[in-house]
Amino acid sequence: MLNLASKQDYYVTLGISRDASQEEIKNAYRKLALKYHPDRNKSPDAEEKFKEVSEAYAILSDLEKRQQYDALGSEGIKKQYKQEDIYNRQNFQDIFSEFGFDANDLFNRIFGRGFASQQVQPEPHRGSDLETQIEVTLEQAAFGADVGVTVPHMKKCSRCGGSGTEPGSQFVICPKCQGSGKIAHRIEAASGLSQMIVSCDRCNGRGKIAQKICNRCGGKGLEERRTRINIKVPVGIDNGDRLALRGQGEDDPNNGQPGDLYVTIRIKPHPYLIRKGLDLVYETSINFAQASLGAEIEVPSLTNKKIVRVPPGIQSGTILRLRGEGIKSSSGQGDELVHVMVRTPEQLTYKERKLIEDLAKEFEANKLNRAR
Ligand SMILES: [Zn+2]
Ligand SMILES: [Zn+2]
Repeated sequence: MLNLASKQDYYVTLGISRDASQEEIKNAYRKLALKYHPDRNKSPDAEEKFKEVSEAYAILSDLEKRQQYDALGSEGIKKQYKQEDIYNRQNFQDIFSEFGFDANDLFNRIFGRGFASQQVQPEPHRGSDLETQIEVTLEQAAFGADVGVTVPHMKKCSRCGGSGTEPGSQFVICPKCQGSGKIAHRIEAASGLSQMIVSCDRCNGRGKIAQKICNRCGGKGLEERRTRINIKVPVGIDNGDRLALRGQGEDDPNNGQPGDLYVTIRIKPHPYLIRKGLDLVYETSINFAQASLGAEIEVPSLTNKKIVRVPPGIQSGTILRLRGEGIKSSSGQGDELVHVMVRTPEQLTYKERKLIEDLAKEFEANKLNRAR
């Protein structure tokens, strides 16, 4: 007995007239696919309905298959095509991407797991990142500065604007991908048929190729250029810190995002001050008399000179702390640490020697008293 249900009328399935335009077919399928998509519709026959409308759309959205269907009916068309040949991925991908469904999912539902279909997304194009370093003074690192640096990098070709094409040259549809920018690799694996869609290697996914390549960049779309870039050195930055300048790396010829520029900070040695974290260290020496009697000494700071009082009786190696004279950054405020060394004279004048000998005698005489 003839099973009438198996003779599907694709026009009825989609609810359209026999002279429906491609646009009407697409709209009808869009509505029904949304209605019956098993992720959205939990009724038990949703999946079956979804397959039916998808098959109808697969046939009617393809001009050649639609003509054959009009002439031969659904039975006829199924004799002509294997099931997987009825479906043209491209037509589904367009619609599915509109409402965020995964077309692979459709193919898996229709063909079962054997049709392990995977799509390799063409990697998003992005220019290369660059690395450079700049030297700043301790003062620039402490207070922030604008520092210019010249960076050689690959930027869009000034002749072709990145297209790699000689200006005025004609474009032709890429013969390898027929202009879609994608090519399908069919793989017959043990698990079944597999299809992989990759970016076309002939046209780099652009879908078109130029007849003449650019004279200046040889078709690469990029040329080396030296650009002066202003770097804002933030307040309190430290040696070895790295800044990221978004978009200041190399251009991408395929209109992707440019790469980033990473700038490592090197702090030049300061003539007097050594940075230790947020603190600054200054080493100085005083003589024995200053250490004994106390003194006022001049100490360089980041901004100017400071007069610092050394208390009488200071020991060699004492650290005097100048609050708030170090580096200020978001993590805090450092001090300046003055390391005071007492220097013993290596050569003495006659008079100095005499005075120290007298002092030595005085120390000796006072020793007993002191020990008491
Ligand atoms: Zn060029
Ligand atoms: Zn191509």
